[in-house]
Amino acid sequence: MAEAVRLDGVSKYFGRTKALENISLILLDRKYHVILGPSGSGKTTLLRIIAGLEEPTKGKVYLNGVDSTHTPPYDRGVSIVFQEPVLFPHLTVEENILFPIEARGGKPSSARGELLRLARMLRIEGLLKRKPDELSGGEKQRVSIARALITKPRIVLLDEPYSNLDLSLREALRWEVKNILMSLGVTVVHVTHDQDEALELADYIHIIYKGRLADTGPRDKVYWSPATPMAARVLAHNVIELDGKCVVVPIDGVTLGSEQCSESFKASLIEARDRRGYRLAVYETQYGTVKVSAPKDKELPEQAFLCLSKYTILDEC
Ligand code: ADP
Ligand code: MG
Repeated sequence: MAEAVRLDGVSKYFGRTKALENISLILLDRKYHVILGPSGSGKTTLLRIIAGLEEPTKGKVYLNGVDSTHTPPYDRGVSIVFQEPVLFPHLTVEENILFPIEARGGKPSSARGELLRLARMLRIEGLLKRKPDELSGGEKQRVSIARALITKPRIVLLDEPYSNLDLSLREALRWEVKNILMSLGVTVVHVTHDQDEALELADYIHIIYKGRLADTGPRDKVYWSPATPMAARVLAHNVIELDGKCVVVPIDGVTLGSEQCSESFKASLIEARDRRGYRLAVYETQYGTVKVSAPKDKELPEQAFLCLSKYTILDEC
């Protein structure tokens, strides 16, 4: 499969702050990539380097196989959507969407067909004459996405695009936009700190932690057998020291009950919290606390055997 983006030993320093440290990463063409990491881990810096809004301190950036480390942003075939929709308040929705065409010296009228096509896809065709202050948060983000797509980029970067929207809107919009982007055949690089969002959308997950790449690969591979303890912690998995080994267990890789299994141990319930779609139970064991995903409708046993059904063993915790 072709590579849309290749980062080769990319580091970025802001004075003494090492925002990114020696990142080597391949992003395959026409896939939905999610960069997952906690706040301050370097996600935005990574996107800005791909977009050409920042230059790396060290390393190289290849786009579609071409060294683009010093290529200006407008020549990269890359568009970016920010967390805060940055729309010009004095321009209409239509003028905002067409702005990148004009900024590149093109004629806005030449892109009218594309504008209408995108507006229809993103269901904003009724809003084209409005000003940004007449739009809801979700509508503004739809307009930002249309504007990012008007130049027909090959790569679309999304920097926490839904974090200012409420949960139900966020969930609906992220699916709809993923389907649109995949139907257009673009490569998507979506940055988020939200692991549910990452797991729901990603074909590939790339985890960064404190400026370093903690794991990269197909979503299920990264989820069920993360390569490093940092990646496991970003995914909120259990990381347990067991007989001198580091055992990584996703919350849904532990089952409750006395069923026969090779790794099982006694546990007492200390806390339970309802989450979307499941209940998170926390058990105390001789190896520390272990989080378990349990069904919402079932009574949780106070005393139980925990069985590790899906886990990965790493050299060190
Ligand atoms: P994230 O998007 O994952 O929250 P960022 O890429 O924004 O992380 O930031 C990574 C680190 O780099 C943070 O410590 C941040 O303070 C620092 N940083 C980012 N941009 C700048 C900048 N322009 N000047 C100085 N420090 C910066
Ligand atoms: Mg950020």
